[in-house]
Amino acid sequence: MEKSIVICTICPIGCSMEVIEDRSSDSGYLVKGNSCNRGIDYAIAEVTNPTRILTSTVRLNNAGLRRLPVRTDKPVPKNLMLACMKVINSVEVDTPIEIGTVIIENILSTGANVIASRTV
Ligand code: SF4
Repeated sequence: MEKSIVICTICPIGCSMEVIEDRSSDSGYLVKGNSCNRGIDYAIAEVTNPTRILTSTVRLNNAGLRRLPVRTDKPVPKNLMLACMKVINSVEVDTPIEIGTVIIENILSTGANVIASRTV
């Protein structure tokens, strides 16, 4: 029986949860240590398909700043982070850029856009 420890990051309490494979439950997992139900979905997602918001920068042309801070507008799978970074590193943008402007649409078909984190 596989067991994992997951720290919940949804709220500042940061519950330490144990996730155990359990074929008899609907989700296929038993979660212990969560102080509220939000931790259950989080813990199962962490062991089945962990995702993160990706933050980075892209090369910026014709501006005082050399790099534009960017981030994904949705979490992307952790196993695609390096591939996403290769795409992000290949992009250059020109000013003016408004905060929230889509810099890369649907990066690697993840459904997440890479957007500007500031106005330049
Ligand atoms: S399980 Fe609930 S109480 Fe615990 S850290 Fe997650 S959101 Fe907060």
